[in-house]
Amino acid sequence: MKVIAITNQKGGVGKTTTAINLAAGLGIYDKKVLIIDTDPQGNATQGIGVSKIHIEQANKTIYELLINNEEKIEDYIVSTKFKNVDIIGSSQHLAGFDKEYCGSIQKEKILKLKLKSLKDKYDYVLIDCPPSLNSITLNGMVAAQSVLIPVQSEFYAMEGMTQLLNSIQMCKKNLNRSLTIEGILMTMYTTNTNLSESVLEEIKKYFKSYVFETIIRRNIAIAEAPSYGEPIMYYDVKSKGAQDYINLAKEVIKNG
Ligand code: ADP
Ligand code: MG
Repeated sequence: MKVIAITNQKGGVGKTTTAINLAAGLGIYDKKVLIIDTDPQGNATQGIGVSKIHIEQANKTIYELLINNEEKIEDYIVSTKFKNVDIIGSSQHLAGFDKEYCGSIQKEKILKLKLKSLKDKYDYVLIDCPPSLNSITLNGMVAAQSVLIPVQSEFYAMEGMTQLLNSIQMCKKNLNRSLTIEGILMTMYTTNTNLSESVLEEIKKYFKSYVFETIIRRNIAIAEAPSYGEPIMYYDVKSKGAQDYINLAKEVIKNG
């Protein structure tokens, strides 16, 4: 089982979009995938067609799982309509986690411990992190073998990257020695524009082989799909977005 944290403390860079669509792509290639939504906004939950209100009323969100040391992860998994894709959903409650947690396990290590029992059930676990470098994001980085960093192809792309890399280093040093970088993923790329091209060049200059070969182009269908609660391959299989995320799934599988 490979656990990948999808992280970038900037909002709106394509973390959730990547969690949903990479999961669906891997699922199509017969990989069993669990998405863990760790953003209180719950966008991954809704984007894959699971009702936030429903799981919140049943007290079965990631918040209850993390806050109660005794809770078993198996009881929180919801299956989706999409091949080989399950999810643990999130809701607004999670925003209070940092202040409210008073369990006995070190706060940053809870998710890692809970995931242990799923070892043989999934090929991939994709953690959709919130847009901040808080203890929830740290939980993701501690539980993960690698981080996937979506970077929006825009002028401010590099902004915040130093801070993000510093916290990955800090996490490696203190909490998770074997954490690696799965890859840096260029998102919302506009083909044939100087801006996108020069941003890509700059990112490649700094991050070299860490940059995924697959580039996610800007594509309106990708933005529409979540409102139908569907990954892009199910919403519009012929779209550029579906092609790009299928290619990303292949590349992630190839990387091992
Ligand atoms: P994050 O999780 O990092 O905050 P999202 O995945 O929610 O970012 O993406 C931010 C917004 O951009 C969403 O409205 C999403 O639909 C849109 N978006 C993401 N990727 C693309 C893309 N390749 N083409 C067009 N719109 C995109
Ligand atoms: Mg998000």
